This record gives sequence, C-alpha cells and structure tokens, in this order.
Amino acid sequence: MGLWNYYFITKLMLYWNSNIDFHVIENVLFALYVLFPLKRLWVRRLRTFFAIPLGIGLFYHDSFFPLPERLIALTPNFRDFSLAYIAELLSRFINIPFLVLLLSACALLALLGRRLRLSTFTLIAIVALPWWHERETLKLEQASLTTPQACDDGVTSQPHIKSHYNNEELNGLLTGFYDTQATKKVSFESSNPTQSPQFDIILLHICSLSWDDIDPNERDGLFKRFDVLLKNFNSAASYSGPAAIRLLRASCGQEPHAKLYQEAPKQCYLFNVLEGIGYQRQLLLNHDGHFGGFLQEVQNVQQGGLNVPLWGDLGAKVQMHSFDGTPIYEDFDILSRWWAKRKARSDQPVVLYYNTISLHDGDVLPGQEKISSIKSFPTRMHKLMQDIDGFTTTLEQTGRPVALILVAEHGAALHGDTVQIPGMRELPSPRITLVPAAIKFIGMPGFQSAHPVISNRPTSYLALTELIKGVMVSGAYGGHALDLEGLVNGLSETEYVSENEQTVVLGKGSKYYLHEPNTDWMDYKVKAE
Ligand SMILES: [Zn+2]
Repeated sequence: MGLWNYYFITKLMLYWNSNIDFHVIENVLFALYVLFPLKRLWVRRLRTFFAIPLGIGLFYHDSFFPLPERLIALTPNFRDFSLAYIAELLSRFINIPFLVLLLSACALLALLGRRLRLSTFTLIAIVALPWWHERETLKLEQASLTTPQACDDGVTSQPHIKSHYNNEELNGLLTGFYDTQATKKVSFESSNPTQSPQFDIILLHICSLSWDDIDPNERDGLFKRFDVLLKNFNSAASYSGPAAIRLLRASCGQEPHAKLYQEAPKQCYLFNVLEGIGYQRQLLLNHDGHFGGFLQEVQNVQQGGLNVPLWGDLGAKVQMHSFDGTPIYEDFDILSRWWAKRKARSDQPVVLYYNTISLHDGDVLPGQEKISSIKSFPTRMHKLMQDIDGFTTTLEQTGRPVALILVAEHGAALHGDTVQIPGMRELPSPRITLVPAAIKFIGMPGFQSAHPVISNRPTSYLALTELIKGVMVSGAYGGHALDLEGLVNGLSETEYVSENEQTVVLGKGSKYYLHEPNTDWMDYKVKAE
C-alpha cells in the first residue's frame, strides 16, 4: 500500500479532529483495492492510474465540501473576487498546529514502516478508529443528557429529549415544521384603522453579524439602547438573498428554501401589506446590490416583492470597498442623508428597507489593505454600531415617531467550525443563523425604558411582524399604554430550521442535525465555545 498509508492516516486524523466524515465501507473497499498484492509492474501501474482519481473522489465524498453542482453554481461569484481576497480565503484552510501534528505522525509512521507492515495497521485503524470514535461520542452525549447544561443564553438542554432520531423521524420533524409554518400568518386587516399607521418603520438589515461573531462580553452592551432584544432569533438562511426574501415576507410562517423563488400568497409580503394600510415603501442600500443578484431578488415581485426604485446617489461618504472593489458607503452618513430627505417630504408614514454590507467578509478599509477582513471585523462592527447609535440620536432629536428595527441577515462565520473554514457559509449552522434582532421605539409619548426587554425564546421573522402589529394595535404612538413585556412574551416561537439551496440544519433539544441531498441526516457538531 506504500504511500497510500499516509493518505489514510491523514484522513483518519482529520476525522478524529471532526474536520471530515469517514465512510468506513467505502474506505475499506478502497484500501483493499490499493492493498491487493499484484505481481506485474504494469498491472500495478494501471491500478495506481485509477486509484488516484478514486482516492481524490473518496476524499471529497468524506469531506463536508459543497456538492460539485453547488460549487459550479458558486463559481460566477468567485470570478468577482479580488486576488487579495482569494489569497485570504485560501490561507484560512491552513491550520498550523494540526499540520505539525500530521507531519509528526507521518514521520513516526515512516520510521515504524521500516520495521513493521504498516498496511495491516492502517487497515485495522480504518475499521477500529471510527468505531471507537462513535462510541466515545455516544458516551459524551449520554453524559451531557443526564447533566443539563446551561448555554450562554441561559437556555438549558432538556434531558427528556431523545438523543438520537433516525432518518424517518427527522424527515417527519421537518415536514411537520413546514406544515405548521404554512398555517401561520399575521394579518393587519383586523388592526384598528384609526390607530394605524402612526409611525415610520426603519428596518436595518445587516449582512454578516451573528451572536457568534460578537465577543460574549459585548453581546448585551452593543444593544443596550434598544427596547426589545431577541437573543434567540433564527435568520433561517446563511446567504443574503434568501435572508432578504424571508424578511420581506415576514408576515407568514417560515417557508422551505425552494418556495422563496416562487410567488407567495399576497399577505406574506410584509412591505406590501404595510403599503396596503397607508405606508410608503422605500429602499436604500449602502452598496450597489449587484453581487449575487441581491437587488433583483429584493425587487422581484415574486421573490422579495419590494418593487420600488432604489434611492439613488445621496452623495454619502465612501467608507470602504467590497471584495470586488465596489464602494461601500458609511452607514451613518447615508442614513442621515436619507432621513433629511424623508423629513422634507410628505407626512405619509414610510417603511424603509435598508441593507448594509459594512461587515461582509472581504471588505477592505482604506489604508488597511494588508489586514485580513477577519482581523478588521471588530473595528468594522464597532463603527457600524456607533453609526447606528448616532443615527438613533438623530432620529430622537427629530422627535418624529419611528420604530427602528435592527435584524441581521446571517453571521460572518468569523470563527468557522470544525467542518467549515471561517467565512464559508454553505452549511447554515446555528453559529451563522442565530443573529441579533432588536427594536427601538423613538418618539413614543410617555414611553421610557432603561434596559431592553430580552427574549431568549426561539423566534424568527414572524415575531418581528407580530411586534410591529402589537405596537400598532396598542396605539402606543398615539399616547396609549404599551405592555411591552406582555407583547414580547406573547411572540410566536419558531423552532430552529435553517436552509440553503441544498442543505438543511434542524435543531432539536440541544442538538443539531444536517441534511444534504442524497444522504441521510447526520449530527451537526457545533463546537463548544
Ligand atoms: Zn449577507
């Protein structure tokens, strides 16, 4: 087997480190193929000729890399990347401590190989190691189920929940989830027309900010000026386009990914529903919206449904450049310039969809071209939050009634996990799709709050719509009392299901399960902090 020993040892070590999966039967068959004693040299050469592509294919099959058709679909996006950004992405694949360990193991094997028949050991390891690894994992899971653990957000895992679901059960859970979601909608028809609409709604949709991207010590402080903070909000998507469509259709329950690109019932398009009760819809981005066809998806009547023209050039300051060299405008400057124009216009209430990519992977700050976008993330995040803070003050000084809503599209995947490198978002894991969602009431008579009302319950877009409707119905902007805690406690819960084009991650209890096409469900190990 010769050099193939190193192939298997590398894979087994990656598997032990949870970087890849390991298909035992396929690997044993492949090991037997490369191991089988052959006398003639030309036959051995012919075997190697076929073994190389087979070995690469099997490695790909064991890895968590996107399926080939997804990679092809992503290729047009890669073409726009600057060379510096491609180099930064490639460097994230390199894990120096692991490489040192791997090289040491290979050197040790090379030494042992002089005295022992390595192939026999490799074959035993191919069968024994996955079996042992599974057994250890199961033991750990059982131990964690008997000892409830507090998560960082205070949610405790439930010991009565089954530790393992089989494939059919998980399929059933997913179907059941979508069946229930299909029945959910928030209707504005019943709200008192004399009380609505009394306030502007400004929706700040932030690309690339999940709880996992924020230092745990900063999580509360960053949102302290808001009145409501949803700490267990699932954006359900790890890419911008589907996240925007989901937000723009926030008045219905969660839809399967494929349905996002088909027309939804009219009552699902939140902005259009609000237009129906007297709002004027507006659209503003701090970028040109071309990447990944984002703007088209937002404006497409069947997708986001926000078919209004984009606010043109407001003369805002360029703050940085995107990974493809296009300008990104400063959030405070562009929002204030928009607000100045909006104030000067009619009194018809406005609902604004604002999208910012100031935190996107690959963004380059002027003069900091050599700093990786992962390193510059905290700087960019603090600047964004400072800009939002400044904009909040501007709104407060105007005194006009506004509900300012902040919701993130998905995380930046700043830390990555064992199966995805930082910045990669193919698998919509909870580290990427559990994001901040917050609301601030400005110009609401008699309303004062020192701290936000915090909800740790699992929520998603429907809860945001319920919040807007709840405030509207309460007449709080007209001077009526607002039972904010009651409103927040009554918000609909949405269990964790996140999706991309081909991938689903489902949460049950304290565990997550991953489904990719043509495979069974598997455990998604979310690495502990
Ligand atoms: Zn995004």
